[in-house]
Amino acid sequence: MNSNTYSTKGFFSQYGGKYVAEVLSRPLDELEAAFKEAMQDKSFLHELEIIRRDYIGRETPLYFAPTATRLLGGAQIYIKLEGLANTGAHKINNAIGQCLLAKRMGKKRIIAETGAGQHGLATAAACAKLGLDCTIYMGEVDVRRQQPNVAAMELYGAKVRAVTSGSRTLKDAVNEAMRDWAANPDSTHYVSGSALGPAPFPDIVREFQSVIGREVKKQAAERGIKIGAMVACVGGGSNSIGFFEPFINEKEPRLIGAEAGGIGPNAGENASRMTGNAARDGILHGYKSRFLLDEDGQALPTRSISAGLDYCGIGPQLAALGQSGRVEFTSILDKEALEAVSFFAKNEGILFALESAHAGAAAIKIAKEIPSDQAIIINMSGRGDKDVFITSPVFRPQKWLDFLHAEIERLEGGKDIHDANVMGF
Ligand SMILES: *Cc1c(COP(=O)(O)O)cnc(C)c1O
Repeated sequence: MNSNTYSTKGFFSQYGGKYVAEVLSRPLDELEAAFKEAMQDKSFLHELEIIRRDYIGRETPLYFAPTATRLLGGAQIYIKLEGLANTGAHKINNAIGQCLLAKRMGKKRIIAETGAGQHGLATAAACAKLGLDCTIYMGEVDVRRQQPNVAAMELYGAKVRAVTSGSRTLKDAVNEAMRDWAANPDSTHYVSGSALGPAPFPDIVREFQSVIGREVKKQAAERGIKIGAMVACVGGGSNSIGFFEPFINEKEPRLIGAEAGGIGPNAGENASRMTGNAARDGILHGYKSRFLLDEDGQALPTRSISAGLDYCGIGPQLAALGQSGRVEFTSILDKEALEAVSFFAKNEGILFALESAHAGAAAIKIAKEIPSDQAIIINMSGRGDKDVFITSPVFRPQKWLDFLHAEIERLEGGKDIHDANVMGF
């Protein structure tokens, strides 16, 4: 446990804290105590280690990208392939860690919120693996937009609750999950999906994701790689803070966070909490940080082609590290992220998730600033198979439309639905 990166009473400089209703104070205190105990317990850490190895598939490779290195003409380009983790992204690192902790605390029921569905999917898988009851709150609008992930969550045995309040998206799902937790604190653990929310969640999520950074440090040392810069995309901040963690208290390398620049710099056009001109300090969802808020402190609409990067807030530790200058932030346009997906797919045979492609695009931009005897390491937080419903209409719109029409015809023909009935589903 790397105590020097932990919060002080839940705060990172002026950000963080625990701004919650009275009823959530006790479950949060109990969680903090149980977490600290578990991290000192050799048998808990051993069990987590075995699950990481055999179920998640760790360690994930650190891949040297020769063609990208040659074409970009500067730093050596390396890619940390988190997308090879079981379920396709880094989110499983946190979901497994928190579910194992909940089990140790004697909880039988897990709840979580999800927006795009990636955190819900990882949590549902972790619950299936560990034999826990799982309920996922998801805005009704997102349920409709993200059917492939809803289908997967249900296959893992989770109940997906469509939230019909407010704008029927992520923030309403967070509120609903919080209400459930407040009503059932003894039986239930609430799994936060990113390194944000009230203390102790930012510390817990960073700890479970820091396995990424520790592996990178070891892999680079073993292979004599001199790291000039590390680049990660930043939604709530879990993959980036976990990737950066072992390097935060060192002067080098440069640590760079790539935010969603959407279609432009103005309010409503992006989700840039550190670099955007609509960003300000605020308190929302139980913590103090940088948010995209209106004059009344209400969440502003955000925009990004990548569903995992469009939350209106950023984890408090990253907000503090941005302010101190240890982490640099840049924003990447939708168009640049799409170009990066295409660049790494064609030249390296690696399909980035749209989120992760923001980190890839940032690396493309700075490659020439770093000398050729040093490396840029890109965290590929997830793989891009899940994005085919978004990338295909952009890269090959007519063929995709033809496919969808053909699918509807096939299903309306009724054969598959008839087969399902015959098989008793
Ligand atoms: C959810 C998600 C992100 C953004 O979340 P962070 O907490 O900032 O890591 C990034 N990449 C992928 C693949 C995701 O699923």
